[in-house]
Amino acid sequence: MYNSQNKPDIMSMTPEELEGFVESIGEKKFRAAQLFSWMAKGTPIDEMSNLSKSFREKLKSEADYRLPKIEKKLVSAIDGTIKYLMALEDGECVESVFMHYEHGTSLCVSSQAGCAMGCKFCASTLRGKMRNLTASEILGQAAAVSYDTGERVDGIVMMGIGEPLDNYDNVIRFLKLVSDERGMGIGLRHISLSTCGLVPKIYDLAEEGLPVTLSVSLHAADDETRDALMPVNKKYNIAKLLEACRAYFLKTGRRVSFEYTLISGKNDTKEDAVHLASVIKKGMRAPCHVNLIMLNEVAETGLKTTDRARARAFAEELQKNGVNATIRRRLGSDINASCGQLRLQKLENE
Ligand code: SAH
Repeated sequence: MYNSQNKPDIMSMTPEELEGFVESIGEKKFRAAQLFSWMAKGTPIDEMSNLSKSFREKLKSEADYRLPKIEKKLVSAIDGTIKYLMALEDGECVESVFMHYEHGTSLCVSSQAGCAMGCKFCASTLRGKMRNLTASEILGQAAAVSYDTGERVDGIVMMGIGEPLDNYDNVIRFLKLVSDERGMGIGLRHISLSTCGLVPKIYDLAEEGLPVTLSVSLHAADDETRDALMPVNKKYNIAKLLEACRAYFLKTGRRVSFEYTLISGKNDTKEDAVHLASVIKKGMRAPCHVNLIMLNEVAETGLKTTDRARARAFAEELQKNGVNATIRRRLGSDINASCGQLRLQKLENE
């Protein structure tokens, strides 16, 4: 676990673990629940009003409270989407995006500083992976946003920077903490975890008994195309990936959703759509959904997005072939809300 201060990382602790910590610094056990609830709201230690001054001083000197610092905040004039650049205590930066939908708010969180997966279209992986985030640093993004906005975070998507299943233990701990009723209490059914397809970890996740929605970044219907776009496919090909998705559905009863980013000239023809429908139906034999994403162009990659008409035709072709599909709405298009781009800009300026 990353820890530069050598002090207990209290925001990564469950309420039960916190009891041990508060006792170790001479406080009563029941204070742990109060502390847990304050941290879930992103409250600075000095504002934890039902804790004594001496307890707060002890927290400041003896605990490591991993609340990220808001380094930059961009608000979309179009739809109110807020993009945050958050600084972690060692100076690493990650991004979080807060979105408003009709049915509630949703926060996109990062799980790693950078990413090792090497997908060819993605800004987050251009400089590789620096490190995993701790559970507290993932949770801290949600806490910092709810403190900053004063709004409740209703749902979470793990679609920010990083590959969540490449930081498995911290992500599982985060899921347990964020869904704990004594803290944020965000229902696991309101949480989506997106993966590029680390197959063994999908099987592990299915065994955890955590009913999160699994989102799988597919982006191609044949191995040749997927190999070229996503290096992970050379290790776990489409057939193996779909087998794991089917197992996830059978074990959890949760509908799996697929992400498919449309890239001009790479994966966006009518034939690709027909092929995709057939591969998914054969592989899944279960309810599923395809989210079509318009590529967010990242200058360094040289890849171009598909035009709207072609995207609509692609969606129609999937539907015609019996696969549920929607084109994802683009929120925050005026603030570059796709993850990875703000962090990259910052790295480039340094
Ligand atoms: N590592 C995870 C989650 C992070 S990315 C994963 O691969 O699923 C969230 C989604 O955005 C993924 O489907 C990813 O492939 C997609 N994505 C990445 N860069 C993109 C870009 N430039 N334009 C559109 N979608 C992109």
